[in-house]
Amino acid sequence: AADTGQTATRIDALIAQNREIHERACFNLNPATNVMSPRAEAALASGIGTRPSLGYPGDKYEMGLEAIEEIEVIAAELAAQVFDAAYAEIRVPSGALGNLYGFMALCQPGDTIIAPPASVGGHVTHHAAGCAGLYGLRTVPAPVDADGYSLDIDQLRRLAHEVRPKLITVGASLNLFEHPVAQVRAIADEVGAKVLFDAAHQCGIIAGRAWRNPLKEGAHLMTMSTYKSLGGPAGGLIVTDDAAIAERLDAIAFPGMTANFDAAKSAALALTLLDWVDYGAAYAAEMIAVAQALAEALDAEGLTVFGKARGFTRSHQFAVEAEAFGGGQTASKTLRKAGFLACGIGLPIAEVPGDMNGLRIGTPELVRWGVGVADAKPLAAMIARALRSNDPAGMAEEVRAFRATFDRLHFVGGNAGGQNSA
Ligand code: PLP
Repeated sequence: AADTGQTATRIDALIAQNREIHERACFNLNPATNVMSPRAEAALASGIGTRPSLGYPGDKYEMGLEAIEEIEVIAAELAAQVFDAAYAEIRVPSGALGNLYGFMALCQPGDTIIAPPASVGGHVTHHAAGCAGLYGLRTVPAPVDADGYSLDIDQLRRLAHEVRPKLITVGASLNLFEHPVAQVRAIADEVGAKVLFDAAHQCGIIAGRAWRNPLKEGAHLMTMSTYKSLGGPAGGLIVTDDAAIAERLDAIAFPGMTANFDAAKSAALALTLLDWVDYGAAYAAEMIAVAQALAEALDAEGLTVFGKARGFTRSHQFAVEAEAFGGGQTASKTLRKAGFLACGIGLPIAEVPGDMNGLRIGTPELVRWGVGVADAKPLAAMIARALRSNDPAGMAEEVRAFRATFDRLHFVGGNAGGQNSA
């Protein structure tokens, strides 16, 4: 039988080990994660998440929930404010489930949708193996504009008239340049389809107003993850300007797919969103500036950074062509040994058998820890050396020493151990 005391000690040690990996030993180049502000982290651990929350503020089923109701209202109002939307649905357990809620609000099982394929970062949730397929939708992959890492508008129009989709999705796991949302909306209108913008990754850039807001470009709704560029707790969020869609989402959230939901997560999300009100524009601009500087510096190191002709990226993310390093996941495992956290991604270039052909790099966490444009060159030199090294683990101490020079959080409020640089 397991020794419960020993197991508890082990779990404490693993939590400390994880903090050590992510906050001390390694540079996190993965755009699909972030570090929360200390005050959001404290809210998440506050214990209120175990309290019931079933029902609407002012009319909850269980009693004594006045405080939790107010947190729920504040979080939803802040989400609508930050995304300049009429309605925000916060009762969404994850970005993946946000997409399911969106599909349920806009489509019926048996409907056809058009979604970006994996070669431009299309996510599994939009396809057969993900919630789109499980809900009974048939996904037709969107035609690709390889240079822009986005959808090809002319071909999309032809395809839409041919397959008559109920929904066209935009947005992916890597987004380099602004997507042509207004043009997609025009095509959707021609065939009676709706537009879902999946901002799982781009929500921070949109919240910081560095990219145009897809809702104002014509997207009917926008789904997102709250723990990637947004830097909040793990969870999902949906915003829309359309009252009828908001009503459907509300019924899907409750009594549809959730009864009680995590009030601690709502509190942590609200505190995270406050940082977007105060520092969002500066944080988003800095994420993009550092991504561009890092892409240029890696190019100067001789790596093939995707999309050079277009200037690599206008986003907080970019990709390195990974064939020379055995593929994206193989390269990520090499980098891990040296102390860099990243992962593979699909690119519209030749495939790498048994691996992904791209290595995705992003700046949400780098910038939170204070990595700036001036740090791009030394960082890129270390990354390039690690990728080419026969002994990447031999670099770990050197990487760790450089990492140790970034020890304060930026663009977070509350002074709870964090520092504001904005
Ligand atoms: N959509 C896209 C484009 C993603 O990259 C992800 C990433 O995981 C998701 C949806 C799912 O989000 P989550 O991890 O919050 O479920």
